[in-house]
Amino acid sequence: MPATHPRELGLVADCASCFGLCCVALPFSASADFAADKDAGQPCRNLREDFGCSIHAQLRERGFPGCTVYDCFGAGQQVSQVTFGGTSWRAAPDTARQMYAVFPVMRQLHELLWYLAEALTLEPARAVHAELRQALAETERLTRESADVLERLDVAAHRGVVNALLLRTSELVRGRGGKDRRGADLVGARLAGADLRSANLRGAYLIGADLRGADLRGADLIGADLRGADLSGADLTGGFFLTQAQLNAAKGDAATRLPTALTHPTHWATTRYKRAANGPSRGAGSGSERKAPSRRGSSSGEGAVSGQGTGSGRGDGSARGDGSGRGSGRRRRRR
Ligand code: SF4
Repeated sequence: MPATHPRELGLVADCASCFGLCCVALPFSASADFAADKDAGQPCRNLREDFGCSIHAQLRERGFPGCTVYDCFGAGQQVSQVTFGGTSWRAAPDTARQMYAVFPVMRQLHELLWYLAEALTLEPARAVHAELRQALAETERLTRESADVLERLDVAAHRGVVNALLLRTSELVRGRGGKDRRGADLVGARLAGADLRSANLRGAYLIGADLRGADLRGADLIGADLRGADLSGADLTGGFFLTQAQLNAAKGDAATRLPTALTHPTHWATTRYKRAANGPSRGAGSGSERKAPSRRGSSSGEGAVSGQGTGSGRGDGSARGDGSGRGSGRRRRRR
């Protein structure tokens, strides 16, 4: 298995090949992320007949920012074109229930593929590369199963196996010395300028955290909930298990340094980072970790592999396995 970043393996949404599954199968609740309630299995009012989004160009302005930060990791087109052979739920309504049931399962499998593929690019984890390759092959095999098999699949059990492997990967990559903030409640925390090099931020709640100028090099960010976190001027080079959807849900600027495979979201300011009046270089993790107002609507909770959230309040349960209508972020649909 070549060490190829998951983006090059096609683990990204191809909305043109999908039957709008994330806009139908998943529920969401009226909130800062969505302008309306929607039940699972109910097509979004903005979904067009051709499965495009009628407000694609104005999602944020129209109150659907949650839709801009979701990523199915390519599960949508896999379910649409492979599992169901290119026949949509509109053309064959009798398949709709099962298609909606299979989509969240497939998304979890694709998310696992993403992390496994990325883990294989991490040279310090070479001691577990053979096991990673085995897990990746098994996960790929599962994605090709029939709808009946996928619907019954104990995906939580499979996630558990993969998760253990990813934890070992993380330890090998981070080495010793980084702060362990796994699952920490850092909502709204003042971490400007903090030294978080090689930190374990797995599943950490960083919603609205001030991470301006923070040093996050080599940090494990799997499932860290970065919604509204300010990454302006932060250095995330060498950070791993970070997805584009997590970044899309955060704030940042042109001075934010990213892992090579990720890009600056278009909505980030183009102005460069400026030191705040009180100084975001206050320091190294001291970071008066202000108690969070609320996690409500968070996609956090270290379930499964990522533990969480990239999020936006979409209820696919996905890698957090809570199925609670919380998020995973939502990639902007085409058109
Ligand atoms: S992208 Fe969002 S607003 Fe557009 S159709 Fe899908 S769920 Fe609805």
